[in-house]
Amino acid sequence: MQIAAIEAGGTKFVCGIGTDKGEILERVSFPTTTPEETMAQVEAFFRGKSFAAMGIGSFGPVDLDRTSSTYGYVTTTPKPYWNQFDLVGAVRKHFDVPVGFDTDVNAAALGEAEWGAAKGLDSCLYITIGTGVGAGAVVEGKLLHGMLHPEMGHILVKRHPEDSFAGFCPYHGDCLEGMVAGPAVEKRWGRKGHELEHESKVWELEAYYIAQSLMTFILTLSPKKIILGGGVMKQRQLFPLIRQNVKELLNGYVQKAEISEGLDTYIVPPGLEDNAGLSGAVVLGLRALEQK
Ligand code: ADP
Ligand code: ZN
Repeated sequence: MQIAAIEAGGTKFVCGIGTDKGEILERVSFPTTTPEETMAQVEAFFRGKSFAAMGIGSFGPVDLDRTSSTYGYVTTTPKPYWNQFDLVGAVRKHFDVPVGFDTDVNAAALGEAEWGAAKGLDSCLYITIGTGVGAGAVVEGKLLHGMLHPEMGHILVKRHPEDSFAGFCPYHGDCLEGMVAGPAVEKRWGRKGHELEHESKVWELEAYYIAQSLMTFILTLSPKKIILGGGVMKQRQLFPLIRQNVKELLNGYVQKAEISEGLDTYIVPPGLEDNAGLSGAVVLGLRALEQK
C-alpha cells in the first residue's frame, strides 16, 4: 500500500511516497518559500500518483486540536508568510484521502518507533538539533500531545560558568535552543557548525547543555530510547561527549541497565537517518487511514 508523506520544514519541504512496510519509494525536496509557491510544488509532485492516505509532519507551532476551527494550521510561526496558514486545508483542496497531521518531531519519533532505532519499543524520545531544537515523544505507544504539543527545545538549562553568550532564542534568550541550535553555534563562534568540526571546545559546550536537557527528559518522560537527529548532530563526536555528561549528571540515580551498562545503545543517532521525518509522516498517513 502506498502513502503520500510530507515533511514540512521551515527551511525545506520533503515530499515522498512510502509504503506500509516502511520503504520510501520516491523522495524530493525543495526550499520552503511562500505557501503559494511551495504548495504548488507539493501539488505537482503528488498529482497523478496513487496513494491511500497522506501524512504530514510540520514545523510549528501547529494546531492539532481536531475540535478547533484552525485544526491543521501552522499557527504563530515567526516564519514570514506562514503565520496562520491552513496546511491541511491546502492539501485537502487537491487530494481526497484521509490526512494525518502532527509536528515534524512527533512524526520523526513515530517513524523511529515504527521502523527505526526504537523499533519494537513502546516509548522513545526523538530530538532534533538543527535550525531550532524540538522533540517528539512516544509514550506507551502513543504520541504525546497534551494541551498544545510539547515544545521541549525551549526548556531552561544551567549556564556554564565560563559561558557569556547571551543566547539566540527570540523568546527566551538562553533556553536550550538559544544555546545549542545551529544558528546559536554560528552566532557564538562566528562560523557555521560544519566548519567547526575540529574545535573541541565547541562540542564540549554543546554536549554540556544537550546532556542537561537529556537528564531532564530522562527524569520526566523516562523514554526507553533517545534518538538525536538534525544538522548539528551530524557532528558524531557529540555522541560520546553527551553520553559522558549524562552519566555524570545522573550520578547513579537511575538504576537501569540502559543507563548504567551503556549509554551507547540508549542515546543514538536516527536509525532511519534523514528519512525519520518522512517515514513518520507515512505512519501518520497509515494511522489516519485506520481511523477512517
Ligand atoms: P532544519 O532544522 O531546518 O530542518 P537541519 O536539521 O539540517 O535543518 O539543521 C540546520 C542547522 O544545522 C543549520 O544551522 C546548520 O548550520 C547546522 N548544520 C547542518 N549541518 C551541520 C554539520 N555537518 N555540522 C554542524 N552543524 C550543521
Ligand atoms: Zn526559547
